[in-house]
Amino acid sequence: MPEQKRDYYEVLGVQKGATNDEIKKAFRQAAKKYHPDLNKDDPSAAEKFKECNEAYSVLSDADKRAKYDQFGFAGVDPNYAASQGGYGGGAGGFGFDGDIDLGDIFSSFFGGSGGFGGFGGGRNPNAPQRGRDIQTTVTISFEEAAKGCKKTVEVSKVEDCSKCHGTGCAEGTSPKTCTQCGGSGHITVQQGSGFFQVSSTRPCPTCNGTGKIIDKPCTKCAGRGKVRRKTKVDINIPAGIDNNQVVTARGLGDAGINGGPAGDLRVGVIVEDHKDFIRDGYDIHYEKHISIVEACLGVKVRIPTLDGDVEYSVPSGTQPNEVFRLKGKGIQRLNSVSRGDLYVHIVVDIPKSLTEEQKKLLKEFDKSYVANKGKEGFFDKFKKK
Ligand SMILES: [Zn+2]
Ligand SMILES: [Zn+2]
Repeated sequence: MPEQKRDYYEVLGVQKGATNDEIKKAFRQAAKKYHPDLNKDDPSAAEKFKECNEAYSVLSDADKRAKYDQFGFAGVDPNYAASQGGYGGGAGGFGFDGDIDLGDIFSSFFGGSGGFGGFGGGRNPNAPQRGRDIQTTVTISFEEAAKGCKKTVEVSKVEDCSKCHGTGCAEGTSPKTCTQCGGSGHITVQQGSGFFQVSSTRPCPTCNGTGKIIDKPCTKCAGRGKVRRKTKVDINIPAGIDNNQVVTARGLGDAGINGGPAGDLRVGVIVEDHKDFIRDGYDIHYEKHISIVEACLGVKVRIPTLDGDVEYSVPSGTQPNEVFRLKGKGIQRLNSVSRGDLYVHIVVDIPKSLTEEQKKLLKEFDKSYVANKGKEGFFDKFKKK
């Protein structure tokens, strides 16, 4: 058999003719006594707390209370007749519809503000606030990335209005402290009366939470004190930056509020490809084509580097795909003076078409090469088949 539902007046411990204030006071006491956070060791407290909530939500509402007085539970809970005394009918959790803010009740209970969070009012509108960060991108060449560069970028950012110097006021005037909130930007609203008053904090409607009143707004910024404007900014891009890295320019973002610091400008760097070089970290790779004869005999070649061409002696007998390292000819490491290396990959070009004369010479070469080495030459092998 379901537990009989207790009378709402009984739940709150008040007389049937109790005044609204008596009901409110009774609920405050019951809520403190049975709040689940204060009764972790007593599982029945949660049930009692829920019961008090339900009773208060009905008895604090004149319309619901009148129906309850006339029809009992069925007057305020359409499911009651069907469920006959059960607690069903939804109403989970501990929220309730009354006009009391639980956080408010318990902040006073603990003798301080913010005991249960959610209270604490608005923040001080006059406190300095950092400006927002802004973003842009810049495209630089391979060489600029390797050696560092200075770039000018155009950004749209919030700045203090030049006409009113950020005050938002017309020339010769200054903002007044809002009289409704005393400059705090928020007001405390009292609800109820007498001993049972509860208060809640909301943004001041007179000054829109700014704490200030501007009688004659600046004509340039319409009283905002800030303007958004396109402006050119010089950015130092350090040597060694790579594609998709970000350079942060401190303090070049949106202006701060109430004297707070400006935000940052974050510049995403796009590095263009080079026609000859391939970058790998701080190293550079370069392909040098030489002829088959140059590979055999050795050759002095010119190798392009970031510092201009250098001469390099490819030794005789160099094999295809051999790699030579030019130390320190790579890219400067970020925040360092040391540099990566330049790797020269040798590509030996084999001629694709030869004249009859050239073929004859190569065959002669082959014969002589075989005679000297005592091996079967390539053309000999070919002829036997
Ligand atoms: Zn202005
Ligand atoms: Zn105000």
